[in-house]
Amino acid sequence: MSMAERYDVLIVGAGHGGAQAAVALRGNGFTGTIAMIGDEPDLPYERPPLSKEFLSGDKSFERLLIRPPRFWDERAIAMLLGRRVVRVDADAHMVETDGGVRLGYGTLIWSAGGRPRRLGCPGHDLEGVHTIRTRADAERMMTELPTVRHAVVIGGGYIGLEAAAVLAKAGRYVTLLEAQDRVLARVAGEPLSRFFEAEHRAHGVDIRLGACVDGIDERAGRAVGVRLAGGERLPADMVIVGIGILPTVQPLLDAGAAGGNGVAVDGQCRTSLPDVYAIGDCALHANRLAGGASIRIESVQNANDQAIVATKTIVGHQVEYDTVPWFWSNQYDLRLQTVGLSAGYDQIVVRGDPFDRAFSLIYFKEGSVIALDCVNRTRDYVQGRALVAARARILAAEARNISLQLHAATSL
Ligand SMILES: Cc1cc2nc3c(=O)[nH]c(=O)nc-3n(C[C@H](O)[C@H](O)[C@H](O)COP(=O)(O)OP(=O)(O)OC[C@H]3O[C@@H](n4cnc5c(N)ncnc54)[C@H](O)[C@@H]3O)c2cc1C
Repeated sequence: MSMAERYDVLIVGAGHGGAQAAVALRGNGFTGTIAMIGDEPDLPYERPPLSKEFLSGDKSFERLLIRPPRFWDERAIAMLLGRRVVRVDADAHMVETDGGVRLGYGTLIWSAGGRPRRLGCPGHDLEGVHTIRTRADAERMMTELPTVRHAVVIGGGYIGLEAAAVLAKAGRYVTLLEAQDRVLARVAGEPLSRFFEAEHRAHGVDIRLGACVDGIDERAGRAVGVRLAGGERLPADMVIVGIGILPTVQPLLDAGAAGGNGVAVDGQCRTSLPDVYAIGDCALHANRLAGGASIRIESVQNANDQAIVATKTIVGHQVEYDTVPWFWSNQYDLRLQTVGLSAGYDQIVVRGDPFDRAFSLIYFKEGSVIALDCVNRTRDYVQGRALVAARARILAAEARNISLQLHAATSL
């Protein structure tokens, strides 16, 4: 039997969660060997700017790196980049890469994120049809952008809206197609959806709600338009598809891990396989703030905090994942900050006037604050976090009153 390389901790996926896991292991005094395998060629970098200030050209790639290149060497974290793990052998504690190399592990941390969902219609894979997940994706778009006049964005989630904002600001004709009757329908309350729709329209974006895509038209292998179910054809030199991700978990499921839409983990981020943890976008976990429902959270906060829980568990601390989710989005000069999980709300209080472009939505469930969406109101966001963490019961009338600070609202 040949001797395979072996690491005490092997991290699969060199993204947000993977990087934080390596950082936190060393930060916790872990002295064993650590390696990170990533299928992208780059050192860990921040993904959020890919649809924001990187796409617009306002931030260079170097400024996206999560740590400077020498950081990883200095901490003896081996970076095995440009390699994909295709198989996990949980009994043997081994993984296999696409190059046929086998690597042994003491503990495996699976932080492989997700890959963009593709459209199911004809033309979904033509040149000029883009998804945004990696540096390479964003750079492909940036290369094409100078010759683009008409762009069609499919999907009114955060990534689609952010890309639409960048392209509209760059002077392109942008149409955004959303299948549901409002943008952000999956993640936010109606007042926020209506606000962003109005903002985009004011910036010239043609937002179409209830739009159903029939296919992408082609000429010489390239996308030239989008066909709607009603027969309408929209010209498009560039099509951007932002319709969510599929978690990257197949090798773990093949190895027998419990899961489905993600890999199931417990409160310490352990999967059902021995010595295998999963964190970040791909980790299906029971979340207290979601009423105990099993969910995946796609955010930097979740990837980082789960990395911390997994690595503390690995070094022998008692911890449990139970943090308040937060998220942000930048579109035009609007800074949205959200905290908590709004799903399941039964009341929304609008604090401030959307017309002023500075307001917050406060989501209540059975009288308790469960989430806030704050637009250009960082103070509400900061103070709202504590309310969400405590599931505070406050009077709606006080929450609505902007002359009263949120943290001064009377607890019932
Ligand atoms: C365009 C964009 C904008 C975003 N904006 C925001 C935002 O504003 N705020 C926010 O909180 N979050 C945002 N997110 C989400 C955030 O980036 C993710 O939640 C976060 O990156 C999740 O971290 P992760 O470690 O789970 O996955 P990732 O960061 O995706 O890292 C996973 C890595 O694993 C690699 N990989 C996959 N399979 C394998 C394999 N088999 N072998 C080896 N490597 C593999 C992947 O290529 C990738 O490099 C955004 C995401 C995108 C794409």
